[in-house]
Amino acid sequence: MQEKLKDLVARATEEAKSIHSEADYLNIKSKFLGKKSELAEYMSQIKFMSSEDKKLFGPLFNKIKNEFEKLFADKLEEAENGSETLTFDPTLPVNDNHGSLHPVTIVGREVTNILKDMGFMILSGPEMDSEYYNFEALNVPKNHPARDMQDTYWLDNGMLLRTQTSALQNRAMRKYGIPLKACAPGRCFRNEDLDASHENTFFQLEGLVIDKDISISNLIYTMEGMLREVFKKDVNVRLRPGFFPFTEPGFELDCSCTICDGKGCPTCKNSGWIELCPCGMVHPNVLEEGGIDSTKYSGFAFGLGLTRLAMMKYKINDIRVLNSGDLRYLEDFNVR
Ligand SMILES: [Zn+2]
Repeated sequence: MQEKLKDLVARATEEAKSIHSEADYLNIKSKFLGKKSELAEYMSQIKFMSSEDKKLFGPLFNKIKNEFEKLFADKLEEAENGSETLTFDPTLPVNDNHGSLHPVTIVGREVTNILKDMGFMILSGPEMDSEYYNFEALNVPKNHPARDMQDTYWLDNGMLLRTQTSALQNRAMRKYGIPLKACAPGRCFRNEDLDASHENTFFQLEGLVIDKDISISNLIYTMEGMLREVFKKDVNVRLRPGFFPFTEPGFELDCSCTICDGKGCPTCKNSGWIELCPCGMVHPNVLEEGGIDSTKYSGFAFGLGLTRLAMMKYKINDIRVLNSGDLRYLEDFNVR
């Protein structure tokens, strides 16, 4: 009998491991503790036993019965608690594809960090803005021909989608005053025909420095220092005269094309140069509109094309892929 009981305990202990639900629990409880169970069968034989055996087996049967009840109940509780916290299968293979940041985000963060180290504060402005901040405060009054170059999307409420991060200049001047050293990355919009180098949605980074005695030298020094950090090497840069109503004088800053190394390709329109950044000295009218005395203070501003910069840095030859959502292009940018 004792051997049989040992065997019974071993089997019950083994089967208790398969309790994963209340149904399992009830089945196993019925099997080992029910009226027709092996244990019940042994217990029914006690009346035929000698009084000595009765003394031995009576308490033993009860002990086994109590132990089984506790064992099955414990296993059920374990299963129920486990299912509350374990909502996934920990045995599945690990998927280590966590995605990556968008190239424009990577470049934007890099440039912003570089400028932060150079003492710039980081601002952000609204993508939907008023005609005043996007044009008038920047010395581009109504009917000014320069507005033709920045055709944008007008909204039913009279606002527009900003064509440039410069729309933030007036707010920055009014809010922070001078000395001012700020940058503002953000999304801009133009009503453009799409091709390999034009998009209707793109990213810029505005830089604005205003203080006493700020000159073109400060502008060139800042731009060269920033681009050297971005490309981690000296790149060729050239300044061409450019007309922007909110600068005087204004420049186009070109960078040697990093896709073709200056040999000529569709992105640089076979010129070997990429127009990277309009910049210049802040026009006195813009300073005055921002509440700053243009006879005492001067400043420079630049509107760095983050989208274009990302294309150059990662040798992407078609701007359209950046907004395409084609994940294959992101596979190479495993930065988080
Ligand atoms: Zn090129």
